[in-house]
Amino acid sequence: MAAYDYDLFVIGGGSGGVRAARVAASLGKRVGIAEEFRFGGTCVIRGCVPKKLFVYASQFPEHFEDAAGYGWTVPRAAFDWPTLIANKDREIARLEAIYQKNVANAGGETFQSRAVLVDRHTIRLEAEDRTVTADQILVATGGRPALHPALPGSEYCITSNEAFHLAELPKAIVIEGGGYIAVEFANIFHGLGVETTLVYRGTEILSRFDMDLRQALHQTMEKKGIRILCHAVSEDVSRRADGRLEVRVTGGEVLLADQVMLAIGRVPNTENLGLEAAGVDMAKNGAIVVDAWSRTNLDNIWAIGDVTNRVQLTPVAIHEAMCFIETAFKDNPTAPDHDVIATAVFSQPEIGTVGLSEDDAAKHFPDLEIYRAAFRPMRHTLSGRDEKMLMKLVVDGETRKVLGAHILGPDAGEMAQLLGIPLKAGSSKDDFDRTMAVHPTAAEELVTMYKPTYRVKNGKRID
Ligand code: NDP
Repeated sequence: MAAYDYDLFVIGGGSGGVRAARVAASLGKRVGIAEEFRFGGTCVIRGCVPKKLFVYASQFPEHFEDAAGYGWTVPRAAFDWPTLIANKDREIARLEAIYQKNVANAGGETFQSRAVLVDRHTIRLEAEDRTVTADQILVATGGRPALHPALPGSEYCITSNEAFHLAELPKAIVIEGGGYIAVEFANIFHGLGVETTLVYRGTEILSRFDMDLRQALHQTMEKKGIRILCHAVSEDVSRRADGRLEVRVTGGEVLLADQVMLAIGRVPNTENLGLEAAGVDMAKNGAIVVDAWSRTNLDNIWAIGDVTNRVQLTPVAIHEAMCFIETAFKDNPTAPDHDVIATAVFSQPEIGTVGLSEDDAAKHFPDLEIYRAAFRPMRHTLSGRDEKMLMKLVVDGETRKVLGAHILGPDAGEMAQLLGIPLKAGSSKDDFDRTMAVHPTAAEELVTMYKPTYRVKNGKRID
């Protein structure tokens, strides 16, 4: 193996690539990793982390309002967007440095360069104008927001990438899409005082989630003042003489906005990477095709994370990295497990979910018990905020196995993480029933719903 410069070369310094590089280096492997933009990748630099900081920022107006019911008088608050951006940037720079340092501390070599495959063992480092060789190569180049060339005026639109660095907070924004990013940013901008309209082509936002949660979140968002247009798309975007944008949507209505943000999915970063030259197979949508162990059609080239377009979530990329290490360097072939993944949408209120939605479960199980509770969280008794929390368990009536757990409300993401454990372990509703409640919490509802609210038999609801 000494014939190669490296035992492993990783292309892409995001969550998956950095984890693989760091762990391989700590095993004593000679590791190089190249990143063309900033170490940390989408999640750290312009995704999950800065997004969550924005979510916190946008929640303060409601906290200030809610404080009155608890006896507080809060003076009129003012918000400064440049301060938020500067503080967020400082935190992201700190995390970026840690990501890079962790690889170096483990003995890996980091390169600030675009890396392109020349052949199946050779990588060109463009910033250094030289090539290196590696025995094993891991492609972890992630993805980027999809653009919308078919939309006239799409050149005036931004994506989540730009949303993190807007020079000023828009007065009004139109967001296209109904997925994670569209919904999270609609709540962020609304919370920061921006007049927000969400334009979604489907029947109900968040198509991959339980319908109960989707409808309840939709209603709550509208009650807060976010406008949601379903069965609609933007048909044309144009810039007025005063610099503002006009968006003509389905039906002819024209919306006025300062920014139009596209959140219509993400596409894999595989262009001009030399994948064709090396002979790596790609799917029609540009994703790298891998087997169950993340190996491409070439036995020394692997791919993990969003570039493979399996499940576009940071923890999944990290899990795939750990499985890759087991398979490639520990003689312990381990396929990533993509079943029963807990996830959260950081909307306001939050969604936390794991397992099958009622509708999906009904397609596979003839007899379901649905346990459902909608209640006002205790915090809102004195605050007076008219917002309900929703909890739902989907249970297989034959085996009593809990197939899905769905929560809408404060801290739902935190709860989903913990619910991920019993659902992964295949726990039954009887296990939930035997579990003592923690009082007074909202989560206690999950272990105190003793009777099904309704059943679903052969796809039909029976009350
Ligand atoms: P999603 O796949 O979640 O949503 C894309 C949305 O855009 C859908 O509502 C889709 O509609 C709509 N859409 C797609 N194409 C068009 C089009 N041509 N015109 C109009 N609408 C269109 O993607 P996101 O961009 O929101 O996020 C990308 C991924 O990043 C997510 O899938 C998720 O895995 C990850 N992510 C995770 C987060 C988290 O864990 N909290 C946060 C943010 C992102 P339809 O429903 O009809 O297909």
